[in-house]
Amino acid sequence: MHTGTLLRTIASHGLWVECRACGHSSTLSVADLLEQTKQDATIRDVLPRLKCSKCRGKQIGEFRIISPDVSTGHERMRTPPEQL
Ligand SMILES: [Zn+2]
Repeated sequence: MHTGTLLRTIASHGLWVECRACGHSSTLSVADLLEQTKQDATIRDVLPRLKCSKCRGKQIGEFRIISPDVSTGHERMRTPPEQL
């Protein structure tokens, strides 16, 4: 995973992050993150600023870039239910 990825190049994507302390995970909108930071920010820049909404921990364990198709549910709508 490239932590040096510019957020603006994945603005339509989501960022899935997991709290190292309690395992709580959530998917953030990269577009929302961009509004709160500089335009040339990278994933590496914003990860340390995230805080777990459950335990208030600031250590991120895993993170993943989620493609727009997955986060908007378009792909799911085209997929027959039995394949889910
Ligand atoms: Zn947590």
